[in-house]
Amino acid sequence: MKEYKVVLISMSGVRVYNKKLLDLGLTLPGFVDRSKVIASLPSLGLLTLASHTPENWEVVYKELDDFTQEELEAIAGLKPNVIAFSSLTARINETYLLSKKFHDLGFTTIIGGLHVSALPEEGMMYADCIIQGEGEIIWETLLQDYENNQLKRFYSSFTNTKFAFHMNDSKIPKYDLLDIPRYNRLTIQTTRGCPLHCNFCAASRTISSYKKKPIEQIEKELNKIFEVWDRPFIELADDNTFVDKLWSKELLKLFTHYKMKWFTETDVSVAYDPELLELLAKSNCAQLLIGLETSNAKGLFEIDAGNWKYRQFDNYLKAIRDIQSYGISVNGCFIFGFDTDTPETFYETESFIRESNLSEVQITLLTPFPGTNLYNKLRQENRLLSENYWDKCTLFDVNFVPKHFTVPELENNFQEMMKRLYAEDVVKERKRKFKQTLRNKYNFQS
Ligand code: SF4
Repeated sequence: MKEYKVVLISMSGVRVYNKKLLDLGLTLPGFVDRSKVIASLPSLGLLTLASHTPENWEVVYKELDDFTQEELEAIAGLKPNVIAFSSLTARINETYLLSKKFHDLGFTTIIGGLHVSALPEEGMMYADCIIQGEGEIIWETLLQDYENNQLKRFYSSFTNTKFAFHMNDSKIPKYDLLDIPRYNRLTIQTTRGCPLHCNFCAASRTISSYKKKPIEQIEKELNKIFEVWDRPFIELADDNTFVDKLWSKELLKLFTHYKMKWFTETDVSVAYDPELLELLAKSNCAQLLIGLETSNAKGLFEIDAGNWKYRQFDNYLKAIRDIQSYGISVNGCFIFGFDTDTPETFYETESFIRESNLSEVQITLLTPFPGTNLYNKLRQENRLLSENYWDKCTLFDVNFVPKHFTVPELENNFQEMMKRLYAEDVVKERKRKFKQTLRNKYNFQS
């Protein structure tokens, strides 16, 4: 059988453009910690494609953050048949440049991921082939097409149902392609998509509708991780893990068998189920990241199709208290720039955070990612600051005309909020209070 080679390139790392914020970020401990973690995660999407690659294809996995000419030459020197990129919006322009460069050198280039799934025509200007949506089945098909000299320009799991992926057919991601000591966390995906469809969220539906992986498959993936790393920290690469509570309890029962700390993203409804909270604690969940979005109830109105988040607002404080009382840290996420936000919203959010005793906080700026309802709305209202602002989709740069601020006003308010929120003593105080919660829990139990 003829042998082939593919290089999978993850365009890792995202740079903030706002210079003041960038300089500030480097000195803010709580903020930098989370950014470092995100930047150092491997690309689970590419490791998954690697597992769906036929055996006559050699796979090389690369992460390109700050890359050099030598690194690019080294990739070309591998003489691959195919070079495939996975990239987020913030690095798509660089990805396009690299793809074009490699194409001009005679290599076949492929791009997949959230951005080109939303704007495939744009992607096709820079790559030989674009993958829209779920990649697994498409990948197997397109490599075969390549072998038969029949590679197509565009493969889509949205328009061609035979490419839609069933989680029962999942394979174990090729973790062994990684140089494990370089990472402080490994990721596994247990669910895909999210049924809430918040208007700003690109992740929830740009790739696929909401689906869950069979528990037996997750067990196999965990076993594989433990083969390559005996004390891992696991980050679930899910959009919203605990949507289905019955399935979630089975998942958590599985997790209790492993000696690991872990982290995931979810919505506030976990707090309403004491059995689930008990299992989260038992399975050593270190932290839940929850999109609270805003401390201004009006800002939640119609944020998701069913207005679910709006209806949860009155439960927020109790929900955070209940989750943290189980010893699980909550990282509360807030977004600034909604049409309902005014300068007061920043101060209201600060007092909300203090009152809530959240152990960690993440703040970002509202970002109109292509493919979202927010993007369509702002585009229609002529409020996007430019046509191609992709590099600035960092979550820390303003890309549209806000309603109650000028652009510099929103930037300044955000920057001042960062300074107050991530000041060393404020971060320490949040941690101290959470430690107190932990002490209360263990004193109560003993
Ligand atoms: S709850 Fe989170 S994952 Fe789900 S749609 Fe909203 S922002 Fe996206």
